[in-house]
Amino acid sequence: MQFALSPEQRALQAHMFTVAEHLQDESLHARDRACDFSRPLWQTLCAAGLHMLPASRDQGGQGLGALDLALALEALGEAVPDTGLVFALAAHLCACIHPLVHCADGPQQTEWLQQIGQRAWLGAHAITEPQAGSDISAMRTRAVRDGGGYRISGHKCYISNAPVCDFVIVHARTGESGSFLDYSSFILDRHSSGIHISPSPKEKLGLRTTAMGDIEFDGVWVHESQRLGKEGSGGPIFQASMAWERCCLFALYLGTMKRQLRACWAHLERREQFGRPLIEQQALAHRLGEMQLRYESARLLCLRAAWSLDHQSDWHGDASLSAKLAVSEAAVRNGMDAVHLHGALGMLSGEVERELRNALPCTVFSGGTEVLRNQLVQQLRSEYRRDARGGR
Ligand SMILES: Cc1cc2nc3c(=O)[nH]c(=O)nc-3n(C[C@H](O)[C@H](O)[C@H](O)COP(=O)(O)OP(=O)(O)OC[C@H]3O[C@@H](n4cnc5c(N)ncnc54)[C@H](O)[C@@H]3O)c2cc1C
Repeated sequence: MQFALSPEQRALQAHMFTVAEHLQDESLHARDRACDFSRPLWQTLCAAGLHMLPASRDQGGQGLGALDLALALEALGEAVPDTGLVFALAAHLCACIHPLVHCADGPQQTEWLQQIGQRAWLGAHAITEPQAGSDISAMRTRAVRDGGGYRISGHKCYISNAPVCDFVIVHARTGESGSFLDYSSFILDRHSSGIHISPSPKEKLGLRTTAMGDIEFDGVWVHESQRLGKEGSGGPIFQASMAWERCCLFALYLGTMKRQLRACWAHLERREQFGRPLIEQQALAHRLGEMQLRYESARLLCLRAAWSLDHQSDWHGDASLSAKLAVSEAAVRNGMDAVHLHGALGMLSGEVERELRNALPCTVFSGGTEVLRNQLVQQLRSEYRRDARGGR
């Protein structure tokens, strides 16, 4: 078992810190209040090639697997104060670039990855609908055969990057039975006729510098060549994207937790009450110890899950369930502890309270906490039953 990063992985993280020097932004506080995604900062990320990281070098990327992408996003989460910007990048990479790299055919990759790479395009991934949140089997968006393609109709909501995106990966029903194999995935230019995207971002609690919105598909015609994989393969494509999100996207929260822990240490060393620094109060030092423990255990689970994806030992992303649960719950609890440790200062608008707000949504997206626990228990139950039958 090897826990140390390779020289290449250390260099990758160091490179992310160098890029991050160009992503420090004094207007962050104002943009967070205004729910304003920064296109200029996005262009800076793209100029450094970060919007193509999982694509091969021939396709304009760096060919990163899940573990290396997780390490890259962890470093960005730590070094870039605009967590919403890193979230927008991570959602684009895991749910839009990943399916293109792993599920698109050669001509689709040539057509789409080239444009995305060269034109700094930003993607949105649309599955959720008003009546289909945790339960995607309730999806109503349909893609009906029409000529040499399909006509897509339906309404998607809570879509990250939607108001500012350049292309969309959308999941729609192509069969009648409602089973997992009745969905297909399509890629579309956002300017396709019949697509309506709410121009202003939804005002939300956290991740306010990622733009979120609804997308209406009003009989949008797509050519068959815009379908990713075979008809009916949308379920597995979605599942694979989610596995990448649960490891790689969530690694950005490892970075924000590390930054937060450093800020808490500094505050408790600096702030004196009752004639000595707060760090010398055992109750507070223990709370910091707990935060560190949560962060480190979540990090081990997250990187192990990413490693498993790379080694095909876990194609369905089973390990990613525990990883996502551990990281999201650690991020929320550490965020609350950080606010508490800062006293009144932690309640003021600023980095400490912003990171708590940025953490809160992460127990809901990429699978809600309860839904993932249900899946985990189901999985464990079948493993225990198999073991009990002696079928190891
Ligand atoms: C910041 C953010 C970004 C997002 N980005 C995208 C995106 O880019 N693309 C996209 O398609 N969607 C996106 N979503 C939507 C996200 O996928 C949904 O919010 C998620 O699937 C949950 O659906 P819901 O919000 O309708 O909650 P619901 O499904 O209504 O669930 C509400 C609560 O009930 C719990 N719950 C649900 N079912 C059960 C059950 N069987 N047992 C126990 N508890 C249960 C859930 O865990 C949750 O806590 C985003 C959401 C957020 C918050």
